Amino acid sequence: MVSAIVLAGGSGNRMNSSTAKQYMELCGIPLVVHALKTFQLSELVDEIVLVTRKEDMEYAGAELVGKYGLTKVAQIIPGGKERFDSVWQGVQATAHFSFAPDGEEQDVILIHDGARPFVSERMIRDSVAAALKYGACTVAVPVKDTIKVVNREGFGIDTPDRSSLYQVQTPQTFRREVIVEAHEHFHAEPRPGITDDTMLVEEYLKKNIYIVEGDYRNLKITTPEDMILAEALLRSGG
Ligand code: C5P
Repeated sequence: MVSAIVLAGGSGNRMNSSTAKQYMELCGIPLVVHALKTFQLSELVDEIVLVTRKEDMEYAGAELVGKYGLTKVAQIIPGGKERFDSVWQGVQATAHFSFAPDGEEQDVILIHDGARPFVSERMIRDSVAAALKYGACTVAVPVKDTIKVVNREGFGIDTPDRSSLYQVQTPQTFRREVIVEAHEHFHAEPRPGITDDTMLVEEYLKKNIYIVEGDYRNLKITTPEDMILAEALLRSGG
């Protein structure tokens, strides 16, 4: 069973818009539908769990899932306060029932920001294969800029070796038992400073995360400029 959790439970308040970011139109289609369509069309994906804000569930059912024929959306569920909470709700809503002949679980969960419209079939394929092989992976790209560690006084105090730095995107993909175990540990004993699901796996399970080749176009729409960029990319063929 391959489940894709598409996260659209945030408020997106850096967009300066009354419409929630995930539903703003990008080339005539609500932002989150771009990613949903890619998961819908992927032969590898069996089901999609769409996580929205509680107040948007009805709209999402009628205006997104119904209107765009997203038949793989098995559930629309309310998210939580933080991204972690939304992910955990999503993970618990996924189906799980496929076992390899040796009894090992074969369920894979892809976790994707609905605000990243350029997820591709190639990323999905590579991520599912890597998750089955290594347990946990994320799509990422090498950083293009030199990165500085800056102290509280505003001085750059270190310049890490750029060749070892990657910028993390989504999907982040896991064998089901890996992400469930990491979240169970986190919710039982939360630690501060954890910024994504791969970090949970590193921190609590002491497991390395395989890096799947991402794409610089796989941007996360956060501010109005990102929307302009994404429209231009889409118009030029993605
Ligand atoms: O806010 P940010 O852009 O980092 O959110 C990343 C993704 O997580 C977005 O797709 C957003 O809708 C989702 N999210 C969520 N639940 C939250 C916060 C964010 O589903 N509580």
